[in-house]
Amino acid sequence: MTGRILMNTRQKVFQSGFKLLNISGLGRFMAPMTQGCGAVFMMHHITPPRTDTFQPNRHLAITPEFLRFAVNRIRSKGYEILHLDEAIDQLKMGYGRKRYAVLTFDDGYKDNLEQAYPVLKELGAPFTVFVTSGLIDRTSELWWLAIERLVAANSELVITEGSEKGPISCATPEEKDRCYEHLMDVLGREVGEEEQRAIVRALAARYGLDLTALADEYMMTWDDLRQLAADPLVTIGAHTHDHYALARLSAEAAEGDIDHGAHRIEQELGLRPKHFAYPYGKPYSVCDRDAEYLEHAGFASALTTFPGVLNSTSAKTPMKLPRVSLNGRFQTSDTLDQYLTGAPFALYRAASWLTGSLRFTSSFSHLFPSTR
Ligand SMILES: [Zn+2]
Repeated sequence: MTGRILMNTRQKVFQSGFKLLNISGLGRFMAPMTQGCGAVFMMHHITPPRTDTFQPNRHLAITPEFLRFAVNRIRSKGYEILHLDEAIDQLKMGYGRKRYAVLTFDDGYKDNLEQAYPVLKELGAPFTVFVTSGLIDRTSELWWLAIERLVAANSELVITEGSEKGPISCATPEEKDRCYEHLMDVLGREVGEEEQRAIVRALAARYGLDLTALADEYMMTWDDLRQLAADPLVTIGAHTHDHYALARLSAEAAEGDIDHGAHRIEQELGLRPKHFAYPYGKPYSVCDRDAEYLEHAGFASALTTFPGVLNSTSAKTPMKLPRVSLNGRFQTSDTLDQYLTGAPFALYRAASWLTGSLRFTSSFSHLFPSTR
């Protein structure tokens, strides 16, 4: 089965799964045990749907219409949309006083200002943008989108750096999917963080992709961020300077990336960020060492992308809070309703624990795919 067919099949299975949870009432039945006191929603891009077929980062983009629908739906289910600060206060004050949701956007994309902000402003919904300062400075690499562009524009990629040498074919849609997934594995997990960027810079130079122009196209400027930060609805959080997977760095390098990011935000916007989101936010990029450092550095919270809702445990782990990713592949009311019950996350954890099987977990984890 090719990657594309497999992905479509999985997507249909999971969509049916959400529908089944809804129709069977299992999610609602489990909700009193699993829904906790609230949820921190994670988003990346807010854009109108794209029409091209090769969209490996499609899970990171939802439409402005779905954002509006989601906010109204979350409120209609009795959740108050709070500033992240208020949510952390609620967590500290004790579990179960009220039900609340927090809206967060990672990285600092221009579409957050152009597409999401008008919707959230109109709805009076507070939100947080976690800013990768090196991308706003245009000194860091938007590497996952660079790879998407390179795979889309070429029929073959020749890599001469690192352990991955030789041409990789990416002519057909199936080859493009395979090539992208392969390169993400190699660059995201096999080579070091510095080497990853060196390989991406070399590839961009070889195939004529201007990385600064790519960042100009996608990322906000400091002026854009000043405009957002001036609105009391908006909280600006830190997301490191270079968007490295911190747990893969030495302690010194990780602390340096955290400090540099917070410092640049303070320099440009005149305020020290109080909240932090780990780049990627998965177990391979989040560790106790950095959680302790973030607390020591004065952050009030740090958000992972571990899938889950806020509950009594979250109050004890403010430096490793879970989030609910609004996945662009599942922009449906069934999915959103089920997320709010907390049932899919409880079932996911139970399934992972019961099987302990990498294959099963890896297949199931497509519900909660890689984030950036
Ligand atoms: Zn990120």
